[in-house]
Amino acid sequence: MDLFEYQARDLFEKHGVPVLAAAIATTPDEAQAAATAIGGRVVVKAQVKTGGRGKAGGVKLAENPADARACANSILGMDIKGHTVGTVMIAAAAPIEAEYYLAILLDRSNRSFLVMASVSGGMDIEEVAHTAPEKLAKIAVSAVDGISPAKAKEIVEAAKFPIDVADQVADVLLKLWDVFQSEDATLVEVNPLVKTKDGRVIALDGKITLDDNAEFRQPDHGALVDHAATNVLEAAAKEKNLNYVKLDGEVGIIGNGAGLVMSTLDVVAYAGAKYGGVRPANFLDIGGGASAQIMADGLSIILGDPDVKSVFVNVFGGITSCDAVATGIVQALELLGPKATKPIVVRLDGNNVAEGRAILAKAAHPLIESAETMDGAADRAAELAAK
Ligand code: GDP
Ligand code: MN
Repeated sequence: MDLFEYQARDLFEKHGVPVLAAAIATTPDEAQAAATAIGGRVVVKAQVKTGGRGKAGGVKLAENPADARACANSILGMDIKGHTVGTVMIAAAAPIEAEYYLAILLDRSNRSFLVMASVSGGMDIEEVAHTAPEKLAKIAVSAVDGISPAKAKEIVEAAKFPIDVADQVADVLLKLWDVFQSEDATLVEVNPLVKTKDGRVIALDGKITLDDNAEFRQPDHGALVDHAATNVLEAAAKEKNLNYVKLDGEVGIIGNGAGLVMSTLDVVAYAGAKYGGVRPANFLDIGGGASAQIMADGLSIILGDPDVKSVFVNVFGGITSCDAVATGIVQALELLGPKATKPIVVRLDGNNVAEGRAILAKAAHPLIESAETMDGAADRAAELAAK
């Protein structure tokens, strides 16, 4: 889960990373009130989960509360890379002398963590990384040792931070590591980390990605979810404990096992090319024990997706035998009754396949078509979706 800047800022504050006073607002009135409470110059910042807000006009300096109100008025409702701004953050403005960059991230390819640091931070960091990679220091951090004071010093030296801010930057690194580790993040980025004219080092913009797999041990993180932006189908699936991801196509997919479902998406996309670019509508893995209830839950979510024109149920009987799955499909359609309205192509293979196919044949449900092979089923499902 990616966090909004204001949420990242709050986590920074919780772990002692230096930040400035701030508040959020969803109306110009609230923005003015927040600016009054903070006092002095403020910066009004669009809260959207995308970068480059500054360049898009989503970050504005305001001299006084009335000005903050006007800035909020122009930023609220703005579209930034497809994200509509519904909230702004009002933060005390910092007199900036220098802008730096710091990030801690999960480095999957090297199976470790990585710190990236640069004294050329700010809005052009991507450009710097591209044209002058030597200005972006990259230092591996072991998951076992983390960032110790000695490691922080090593990073500060590698990135050539000026001597007058070295200790403060090292301290920020230790605190960011605390954020990264204790909040179970996969990314913690500060850009810019600034040096103010009076020599303080402060995190002015933060970006945090939390590891959803750690949800079970992070009870506070539930409050950070942006329910307004959650897809309703994904939310319903989550409620039922289903591994579902909404995609853009027309063929609803149900399978057992993540690998099989991934390859099902591929074969459907491949087959769909023949029918004018029909594509899979979702990922849904119902796992090993596909009971009638789980099948009904999965089918009802997929059939509730208005984009879905046909459904492809692709099951390989392993732990669960095909006859149990077939019975599950038949019972699921009974449970759904008139809610089931779209053609369903079923491919069963593996354990007890003959019995499974016989059950489907006997039920002779008007929506169900059996297919012998995965490719054949993908082709038929795509053809039905294109009709
Ligand atoms: P981003 O463009 O989405 O990364 O948004 P940032 O929060 O990083 O803001 C973009 C730029 O606005 C920063 O690089 C700064 O140059 C400037 N900025 C942000 N906050 C302040 C502030 O408090 N004072 C001043 N003078 N500039 C700021
Ligand atoms: Mn930034």
